[in-house]
Amino acid sequence: MKLYIISNRLPVKAVAEKDTFVFSRSEGGLTTGLNSLQGNYEKHWVGWPGICTDKEEEKQDICHRLEEMNLHPIFLSDEQYKNYYEGYSNSTLWPLCHYFFAYTLYRKSFWQSYQEVNALFCREIIRLVEPDDWVWVQDYQLMLLPEMLRQELPRLHIGYFHHIPFPSYELFRILPERAEILKGLLGADFIAFHTHDYMRHFISAAERVLHMDFSLDETRIGSRIVRVDALPMGINYDLYHNVSQQKNVWKAIERTRLLFGKHKLILSVDRLDYSKGILHRLYGFASFLEHHPEYHGKVTLAMVIVPSRDHVGSYAELKTRIDEEIGSINGRYSTMNWTPVCYFYHGFSFEELAAMYFIADIALVTPLRDGMNLVAKEYVAVKQDNPGVLVLSEMAGAAVELTDALLVNPNDTEQIENAICRALEMPFEEQKERMHRMQSIVSVQTVNKWAADFVNEWQEVAHKNKTML
Ligand code: UDP
Repeated sequence: MKLYIISNRLPVKAVAEKDTFVFSRSEGGLTTGLNSLQGNYEKHWVGWPGICTDKEEEKQDICHRLEEMNLHPIFLSDEQYKNYYEGYSNSTLWPLCHYFFAYTLYRKSFWQSYQEVNALFCREIIRLVEPDDWVWVQDYQLMLLPEMLRQELPRLHIGYFHHIPFPSYELFRILPERAEILKGLLGADFIAFHTHDYMRHFISAAERVLHMDFSLDETRIGSRIVRVDALPMGINYDLYHNVSQQKNVWKAIERTRLLFGKHKLILSVDRLDYSKGILHRLYGFASFLEHHPEYHGKVTLAMVIVPSRDHVGSYAELKTRIDEEIGSINGRYSTMNWTPVCYFYHGFSFEELAAMYFIADIALVTPLRDGMNLVAKEYVAVKQDNPGVLVLSEMAGAAVELTDALLVNPNDTEQIENAICRALEMPFEEQKERMHRMQSIVSVQTVNKWAADFVNEWQEVAHKNKTML
């Protein structure tokens, strides 16, 4: 039996070597979870290799190298990358799903390209699969693909996981192509989301836009059942929990401790994105400094921002505003031996990031909207009876599970300020108790369990569909 994972990007890192490219597999959360799947599967992956090229020899070379690892590249032109990826995916669907509808751009060229690229994926998959193989489509860049595949191969097993929020009907109905997108998803037999709220929103959109009838978590399309469910994605818990035993991580911990001295350390880690609430977080920290001079010189905010999508206009503007706000806080409060915000505009290695998690007294994770937020779970997992308080936005999917965090509304500056104070003053015993309770959840709901739960339920639906035929 073959399992095909379909995602916008392949899980590979490309390195240019002389006049060719060499690829190595990158072990992100999704790859780890899928690799752990028990069962008689031969696993394949289909996606964009991260490189745009028109040269046939280069394409051949890339295909050849990747196919050795069961990876099947889909090549996109510059135009497609711009209109399908930066356009419809990241300038239409992303802001809409994250409730930033004022940022949502509607362009005919974006939509045309989105259809074209989904069809391109469909053709490539049809070329690869047998009619009753298993095809698991990942995320919002490929929402039309399940129905496109269903039209071509009616017996194919098709699953879909939505990694970002699914917005409420009132927001989703704004999308001109709402009906096409929903029909696209309903080509799958099994559709899952991180939380029950996202699942409810999807059902209500399908009921109101397409006039479908759901009985609890199932609906019927012809002779086929479509099931929906909420399956929160987790992390590789053991990897993070045992990280301080690694020698290179321990060295990084010592280096990072030297850097921040005896200051209490507040950590903030995000990709550059307006959904992450970075500016609101800075307003909360500025307000904390304004009202609590007793902490001046004693608390540092380490702000890690990983560059992302900087060709999209709204991201470039956000970067400028963040730079200005950090400049303003540091300009106002810095002294000769203390800088309140330590700002890093680049990604960190796994070891460096793990070291930051390990020593940070507080993780300030306050997105305005976030499908899940893995940083919150990683921070919890790394702790080993050492100090740590998680301040978490109630708008993150992770807040459903991590109820022992200090939960805040990220739009409320005063709540962020108060949560920072409460975290700084929290007795160590209470910190440990809260952390243990959260660890007992994160250690069970791992990425491996998430992948296994998805496949088990998908197989159950397939079995039900088979017996109905
Ligand atoms: N991350 C990383 N290096 C960094 C900062 C973050 O590898 O310098 C990783 C982090 O460990 C986490 C992911 O990026 O696994 C961010 O995932 P999250 O769900 O928090 O947000 P997303 O970026 O997917 O919206």
